[in-house]
Amino acid sequence: MDNATRCDAPHGGDTPTVALEQTSASALSVRANECVDVLVVGGGPAGSSCAIALAREGAKVMLVDAQARGRDKCCGHCLSGAAWNIVGELGVRHVVESAATGATQYVAWRSGAQEFAMNLPVVGAIVPRATLDKKLLDEAERVGVRVAQPATATWLEPGKVALRMRGDECVVDAKLVIAADGLGSGIARARGWNPKSPGRKYGFAGSWRAPLALGHWCGERIEMRVVRGGYLGVVAESHEYIHVAGLIDRNSKVSRPDDLLNEVARDWPLLTAALQEGKPARWNAAGPLPWKPTRIADESTALVGDAAGYAEPFSGEGMRWAFESALGLSRAWREHGGWSAVAAQTYAKWHGDHIARVQQKTLRTAWFLAQPARASLMCQAARSFPRVASWLACSMGK
Ligand SMILES: Cc1cc2nc3c(=O)[nH]c(=O)nc-3n(C[C@H](O)[C@H](O)[C@H](O)COP(=O)(O)OP(=O)(O)OC[C@H]3O[C@@H](n4cnc5c(N)ncnc54)[C@H](O)[C@@H]3O)c2cc1C
Repeated sequence: MDNATRCDAPHGGDTPTVALEQTSASALSVRANECVDVLVVGGGPAGSSCAIALAREGAKVMLVDAQARGRDKCCGHCLSGAAWNIVGELGVRHVVESAATGATQYVAWRSGAQEFAMNLPVVGAIVPRATLDKKLLDEAERVGVRVAQPATATWLEPGKVALRMRGDECVVDAKLVIAADGLGSGIARARGWNPKSPGRKYGFAGSWRAPLALGHWCGERIEMRVVRGGYLGVVAESHEYIHVAGLIDRNSKVSRPDDLLNEVARDWPLLTAALQEGKPARWNAAGPLPWKPTRIADESTALVGDAAGYAEPFSGEGMRWAFESALGLSRAWREHGGWSAVAAQTYAKWHGDHIARVQQKTLRTAWFLAQPARASLMCQAARSFPRVASWLACSMGK
C-alpha cells in the first residue's frame, strides 16, 4: 500500500558524494554531510507547497521524493472549494488552476433507491494528481528549492537523514526535517510518533477511457455511491476519462476494488456502460487509514499533510488539509523567525485546532453516512428538510 514500506531501516555506513539525478534537465549533486536549513521528505501537495513557502521565507530548502516526477497518487482528484483561499495564501493558486481539468459544482448521493443532489457551497476543481504534483514540484524548483527524485530518505537521528538513490547513499544535515511522506509516514514511525493501533480501511483509485458512457454524463458533478462494505466517488476527469476513488473496510465482505465497482454498477447503468469500455490499467492504493500520529512536531522534525494525520476521503478534503498544514507551518516559521521548540508548539497547537478537529468531525460524519441504511435515510431527509441538506453541504468540504 502507499507508503507503508517505503522508509527503510536506518543506515550507518559511509557517506560518499552522490550525484542525484533529476527527471528535469539539470543534475543535482549532494555532498556527504551537506547542510540545508530544511529537508522536505515527500513531493505531494503538502511537501511541495511547504518547500515553496519556506524558500520564499529565505530558507535553504531541499526536497526529496522516492518516486519519479509525474507519478500518480491514489486520490479522487477533487480539490474542495475551501482550498482556493489557502492555495492563494501559499502563492500557488496559479499552479493549481493550471492543473485543473474541470470544475465540481454539485454532488449527487445515492444509496439503494434513494438519491439526493445538492450544490457544493463553493465550486471546486478536478485536478489529476500526476499533473498537479508535477507542476507544484516544477514551481518549487523555480523558486529555488533543490529537488532530488527519485531519492528515498531515511531518518537517522534529529537533524540527520540518509538519502539513497540507485543504491548510492549520502547523509544530509538539516536544521528542520519536514515529513511530508504521506499516510503511514516512515519519518513519523522512525520518530516513534506512529499511532498505536492502525486503521482498518483502504483506499483505491483509477481512471480509464470511457468516452461513450461519458456522453451521458451530466455537468460538473461528483457522484457518491454508498454500498455495503464501502463507498465510491466518481467524476468525469475529461470528456474521455472517468475517474473513480473508493474506500473499503478491511472487515467487510467486499475486499477488492473490482467487487465494489461491480456492486455499485448493479444500480447504475452509466458505470456499467463505462466498465464495458474498459477498466483501469492498475489501481493505486492507500492505507491503512485513518492515521493519527501521537505527535506532529518538535525542534528538529515536523509532519505535514497526510503524514500529520488523515481521516478518510469521504468529504474530499485531503489536499486542502495538505495545503493548509503547509500554510500553518510556514506561518509558525515566520512568527518565530525560523524553527525552534516554540515554533513547533505553535504549529502543533494550530494543527490541532484547525485540522485535527475537522478530521475528527469528518470521521464522525463518515461513520454515520458511509453505511447504506443511514445514507438512504439521509438522502430522504435532505430532500425534505433544508437544514439536513445544509448540514450535509457543510460536511462536504465547505
Ligand atoms: C481513496 C482516496 C481518495 C481521495 N480523494 C481525495 C479527493 O478527492 N480530494 C482530496 O482533496 N483528497 C483526497 N484524498 C486524500 C489526498 O490524496 C491526500 O490527502 C493527499 O495526497 C495528501 O498529500 P501529501 O502531500 O500529504 O502526501 P502524498 O500526496 O501521499 O505524497 C507523499 C509523497 O512522499 C513520498 N515519500 C514517501 N516516503 C518517502 C521517503 N522515505 N523518501 C522520499 N519520499 C517519500 C511519496 O513518494 C509521495 O510522493 C483521497 C485519498 C484516498 C485514499
